[in-house]
Amino acid sequence: MTIYNFAAGPATLPDQVLAQVQAELTNYQGTGLSILEISHRSVQFTTLLAQAKQLLLQLMNLTEREYEVLFLQGGATLQFTMVPLNLANKFHRVAFVNSGHWAERAMAEAKLIPDLAVEEIATSAPQFNHFPTVEFTGPAQYDYLHLTTNNTIFGTSLKQLPAANLPLVGDLSSNFLAQDYPFDHFDLIYAGAQKNLAPAGLTVVVVKKSLLSQMPTALPAMLSYRKLAAKDSTLNTPPVFQIYVAKLVLEWLVSQGGVSAMEAINRQKAQLIYEVIDQTNFYHNPVRPADRSLTNIPFTTGNSALDQTFITTAEQAGLKNLKGHRLTGGMRASLYNAMPLAGAVALRDFMLQFAKDHAEEK
Ligand SMILES: *Cc1c(COP(=O)(O)O)cnc(C)c1O
Repeated sequence: MTIYNFAAGPATLPDQVLAQVQAELTNYQGTGLSILEISHRSVQFTTLLAQAKQLLLQLMNLTEREYEVLFLQGGATLQFTMVPLNLANKFHRVAFVNSGHWAERAMAEAKLIPDLAVEEIATSAPQFNHFPTVEFTGPAQYDYLHLTTNNTIFGTSLKQLPAANLPLVGDLSSNFLAQDYPFDHFDLIYAGAQKNLAPAGLTVVVVKKSLLSQMPTALPAMLSYRKLAAKDSTLNTPPVFQIYVAKLVLEWLVSQGGVSAMEAINRQKAQLIYEVIDQTNFYHNPVRPADRSLTNIPFTTGNSALDQTFITTAEQAGLKNLKGHRLTGGMRASLYNAMPLAGAVALRDFMLQFAKDHAEEK
C-alpha cells in the first residue's frame, strides 16, 4: 500500500530526495564521512551552502546582487521577533494584515518589542474564511507591511500582492515555492522549512541587500540579519543536514520546472479535492472560493463523530495525518510541493467512496 502523508508540517518530502539522502548518508561525496558529521567549515559544506543559495535565488527569479539568502534556526516564529527588531527603524510603526492564526502570532510577538507601534490594517477575523483586502490611502508611514501569504490553518491564500508603496515582508512558510509570486516585490521573505523545503530546524530568510546596511548594529549577533549575513549564515554552527536536504529539494524543484510549474501541479491537486467538496454536498469548506489555498485544504462533514471515522478510515487506507488543526477540528489535507498528483487522486477517490459509504450517517 502506498502511504501518503498529508501533514501540515513537518511534511512530506520528495521520494527521490529521501532516496538520495539514504544512498549517500554514510559517505558524503566520497569523503568517507556522513553529512551528519561534516564540519560547517569544510569545503563540502561551503560548496553546498553556495549551491543552495544560488538555486533558491534562481527559483525565485532573484539576483545575488540584490538579495541575500540566510539559513537560520528558531523557526518562522523567531522571525516574528527578528523582522521588527531589524526593520522597524524609521517610523517605529509597522502594519499587519491579519489573515489568520500565524499573522496573529506574528503581531503578538511584535507587540512585545518596546516602543513599536503595531497596527492591524486589514483583518478577516474571527472567521478567517477569506483573505482580507488591503488598501492604502495616502502616504504609508510604516516601516513595512507584513503579510502571511498562506493561512495554514484556515486554508486561505493571497492570490495577488497588494500595491503598496512601502517595504513588503512576507511569511511564506506554508506556500513557499508552491505558489508563484513576483518575489522581487518583497523586501524580506521568510519561511520555516518544514512545510515545503526540508526537515524541521531550518528557517530561510531572503532579504534585500540594500536594507542590510540600514539595519541596527547594536543587536545581539544571532538576532541581527546584518551580522548573520556578514558571516554567510555560519556565525555559529548552522543546521548542516537541513541545509543539505534543502539543497536536494531545490534541485528537485528545478528539475520539475520551477515554481510556476509547481503551482500548476498544485492547482491540479487542489482542484481535485475542492471539486469533491463542492460537488458531493457531503463535505464542507468555508473559504471564499477565490481565496482558497492551494496547499492547505480544511474540510469537515459537519458531524464530528463522522469526521473522526473519516480520519481513522483514511489512516488505514494509507492516507495519513488528515486530522485538522485543533483550532478548526475536522480534517485538513496539506498538498505541498512534495505531495504527488497520485496522492491527491488517492485522497479524492477515498473521499468519494467514503461519502457513498456513509451517506446515511450525516
Ligand atoms: C507553521 C507556520 C509558522 C510557524 O513555523 P515554525 O517554524 O514552527 O516557527 C509560521 N507561519 C506560518 C504561515 C506557518 O504555517
